[in-house]
Amino acid sequence: MNSKYEVLKDIFGHESFRSFQEDVVDTIIGGQDVLTILPTGGGKSLCYQLPTLLMQGVTIVISPLIALMQDQVKALNDLNISAEMISSLQSSDENSFTLQKLLQGELKFLYVAPERFTSNEFVGVLQRININYFVIDEAHCVSAWGHEFRAEYRNLDRLKQFFPDTSICAFTATATKKVEADIANSLRLNNPKHFRAKTKRDNLDIKVEPRVSNGKRQILNFLKTHRGMCGIIYTFTRKEAEGIAKFLCDENYKAAAYHAGLSVDVKNRVFEDFVYERVDIVVATIAFGMGIDKSNIRFVVHTSMPKTLENYYQEIGRAGRDGDMSYVYLLYSKADEVKRKIQIEEAIDDGYKSTSLEKLEFMYRYCVSNNCRHKIIASYFEDEIPSCETLCDNCTKGEVEQVDVSVDAQKLLSAIFRCEQRFGINHIVDVLRGSKNQKLLEFGHDKLSVYNIGSQKSKNEWIAICDKLIDIQALELGEFRALKISDLGMKILKGKEKLFIDSDKLGLLVKQEEEDL
Ligand code: ADP
Repeated sequence: MNSKYEVLKDIFGHESFRSFQEDVVDTIIGGQDVLTILPTGGGKSLCYQLPTLLMQGVTIVISPLIALMQDQVKALNDLNISAEMISSLQSSDENSFTLQKLLQGELKFLYVAPERFTSNEFVGVLQRININYFVIDEAHCVSAWGHEFRAEYRNLDRLKQFFPDTSICAFTATATKKVEADIANSLRLNNPKHFRAKTKRDNLDIKVEPRVSNGKRQILNFLKTHRGMCGIIYTFTRKEAEGIAKFLCDENYKAAAYHAGLSVDVKNRVFEDFVYERVDIVVATIAFGMGIDKSNIRFVVHTSMPKTLENYYQEIGRAGRDGDMSYVYLLYSKADEVKRKIQIEEAIDDGYKSTSLEKLEFMYRYCVSNNCRHKIIASYFEDEIPSCETLCDNCTKGEVEQVDVSVDAQKLLSAIFRCEQRFGINHIVDVLRGSKNQKLLEFGHDKLSVYNIGSQKSKNEWIAICDKLIDIQALELGEFRALKISDLGMKILKGKEKLFIDSDKLGLLVKQEEEDL
């Protein structure tokens, strides 16, 4: 029998294991349940594909997306390994044919969607064959605390019920400790071995900036310093994807739009053009991503803020899978947060609303923070790392001129105090800027001494000062996002502490408002 090293080299064509891979492979071969958290590009597929080639039976891989399954089945077939998938895309004849092959022991891998496990007939077939182990790909979908909960994944607790002696290997790129525990519980893993790679990606250079107007000029400046490289630009809407793709083509970049509203033919063409480098830049909604196995993506740009840090981390993780230096650039505005909030309010049923809003809030905090970006991401996934020093805008921007906004902060805190710490930032800014808004008048807040004491500052500037106060924990967010003043906030209010803010942050905001006019 071949050794794992021979299989690694002769079949997969790799010289050595990457970190974690060998340990995960050994644990799987040993028959123990496994829960592995490896960042995108970390090489998860190999972890669960290699062991089967040293075993007799078949491995069942459960995956959430047909496109992902197709890619994997094709990749395995290209290596002369017998793999099939059963999905709604295949005709029922094709699916029966695959089941026949399965029963005759002709397959090494079968890829299926989680909903198959609601079928007793399918489970019955699996009970008649020799299964090495189950693989759950994108396992964070099991957890309601994760960023992509899928109800079908909940059925997978049936696996241990029907196959108590078959091990389960769960994989994901992103899971907080809470999600990790939830995955293990939901799948009823039996004494699983946990593998968790460190969250930091050493070859990603991160930059985050407030978006000026529609961001096109900033994107162009970014691309100028990354000419000839290929990358993805994520947009909020399909229309924006099309608009920016056209704008870049007019600027002589080889760009194409990709989103769920395009025909399958067009999508396939864009995908292939990108893989074969006939197109350098794909401007896409999040429809583009899962399953892209292109290792030399050099940059990922976001034209607006993603809805969670998990989404963001997964999307930026598509850059630099080959380990070479890559660049990620995020443009945000307060308006993004508001738009995302509306999306959450409309789309999600109550149980997940508060979790989703918390995650959104964290994403926004990440954008406006002055701390090391890598450190914030790591801490979100409950991983402690030192500041990167060299790999993010906050660590490398050096000395930025600081503006003393202590008096403005006092005005803001005072307004919050006068409004009894029961209102969110929009209301407070309305009070400061002397708005005649109905709600404000109803509360009689036009009679407060703080009414209209801040009309010389724009709304965005007030928001920037508020963000800064939240960032340093002088303010906290209470129920319904009401602003609450902490002890530190009280000190600033009483003039015992000063507040400084980076001049570039305020400067950009003023510029943004001028351009918006
Ligand atoms: P993930 O699923 O974790 O995002 P993949 O399994 O798609 O990552 O692997 C990412 C890339 O790394 C693929 O191109 C794969 O061929 C490559 N790869 C995986 N393991 C190794 C290895 N041991 N040596 C070199 N390249 C590897």
